[in-house]
Amino acid sequence: MTTVDRPIPVTPKRVPCPTCGGDSIYAISNPYRPFCSARCKNVDLGAWASEGFRLAASGSAEDQPLEDSPPSSASH
Ligand SMILES: [Zn+2]
Repeated sequence: MTTVDRPIPVTPKRVPCPTCGGDSIYAISNPYRPFCSARCKNVDLGAWASEGFRLAASGSAEDQPLEDSPPSSASH
């Protein structure tokens, strides 16, 4: 008599894709998790990157604190 080990089918956890709201498999088999696909991941990253770029670009260079050179008392 032999007992056959039946592998328990692992139900992949599904989460809503943050980008398209569709089903995305949250498992190691899905390298784009929690996104459903590479496209959705790129879209989200792109949005984040452009947002950060816009915020960084909105700050004008005039606001950059320039180091005030201390008055040098080198005059004798
Ligand atoms: Zn998606």
